[in-house]
Amino acid sequence: MKFHEYNISEEIKKNIAKLGYKKPTDIQFKSIPAILKGEDVLAIAQTGTGKTAAFAIPILNTLQKRKIKGRPDGVKCLVMTPTHELALQTEEVFKTLGKHTPITSFSIHGGVDQDPQKEKLNKGVDVLVATPGRLFDLVSQGALDLKRVEILVLDEADHMLDLGFIKDIRDLMRHLPKKRQTLFFSATINEKIKKLAYSLVTNAIRIQVSPKDPVAKNIDHAVAFIEMDDKRFFLENMIRNNPESKLLIFVRTKVRAERVKKALDRVDLVSDTIHSDKLQNEREATMNNFRSGLLKVLIATDVSARGVDIPNVDFVINYDLPDSSENYVHRVGRTGRGDQKGKAISFCSTEEKEILEIIEQNLGKPVQRMEISNNQYQHTLEISKEKLPDWRALMNEPVKKKKR
Ligand code: AMP
Repeated sequence: MKFHEYNISEEIKKNIAKLGYKKPTDIQFKSIPAILKGEDVLAIAQTGTGKTAAFAIPILNTLQKRKIKGRPDGVKCLVMTPTHELALQTEEVFKTLGKHTPITSFSIHGGVDQDPQKEKLNKGVDVLVATPGRLFDLVSQGALDLKRVEILVLDEADHMLDLGFIKDIRDLMRHLPKKRQTLFFSATINEKIKKLAYSLVTNAIRIQVSPKDPVAKNIDHAVAFIEMDDKRFFLENMIRNNPESKLLIFVRTKVRAERVKKALDRVDLVSDTIHSDKLQNEREATMNNFRSGLLKVLIATDVSARGVDIPNVDFVINYDLPDSSENYVHRVGRTGRGDQKGKAISFCSTEEKEILEIIEQNLGKPVQRMEISNNQYQHTLEISKEKLPDWRALMNEPVKKKKR
């Protein structure tokens, strides 16, 4: 799709052409239609991917369409950015793409005199690009009213959190209308970012991704749909079918880790766990055994295995799906280190399908499906040592006398 095929104003199209942009970048291709429709968007995009134009183009078009001539009535779009430089850069993009439209753009940031900024704001600005500190200052002085904001953009949200702007952002939210379109851009996604995003975005979120595949090419990763209560039988099966392989199994909590170990104990399979309830020296000993290959099956929580470099892990098994795509990438990255090949399989129950969807959206593509036929599924349950009838016990059982 080329830019001239988009449903945007002729003025904006001309400005895009003047910049020499021929076709949209990935992030633009994915975000522009959603933003034009008025949807809330959560986009994972690094600087350099064309993300500024990805929000500036549709915002300018929307505001141009809504603009009532000769009525400067307050800021319509607020773009929050973490730094002075980025604020200026973003203002420039809005100005360039908005040439010959009636939309005015302006940026404010700390470190300079406030008065000229106030003066300019009084004259009416449609798009305001601001760093959170200065913005909060002006709002608390009553110099800036945000009641008419229709579109809010949080650009480089992860960077803003790193710079400690979270409180300013939260305080500012009280000054914004609840009904608005919110666009959230971040280069990374983690629990904190997700929490912030979900607290700001009210409508359904579209998650876009940076084009780079965060999972290394030498890792084959797939998902198998297995119900929660059946997972232990599939794990047992995998361990039995790969007796020489090193398996790293991820679970959500330390309690789950111990439970999975007990399930494996019941079917006479040796494993060990590592999590934060274990003593440091116990953990080290377990890790050493796993590293040397003495221990073949290790059950771990996300935190306990973060950053650990273990050679020759043949399989990573996500016994529980991770709670974020960041953790997914981190977990599967425990196999296929360096130039080795690795395999990762996620056991996904019906309840976890929603998490899988989010992970896939963030990865930018679906995770390969591992087909399990009904017969195979049933067979795996039936051949479990836990399910096999214990013939000896049955033989020893006293024969019940029939009641007359
Ligand atoms: P950004 O990620 O917004 O910092 O943009 C990175 C660079 O990509 C900037 O120099 C933009 O001018 C340029 N750019 C943005 N969109 C396009 C496009 N569709 N085609 C070519 N260059 C682009």
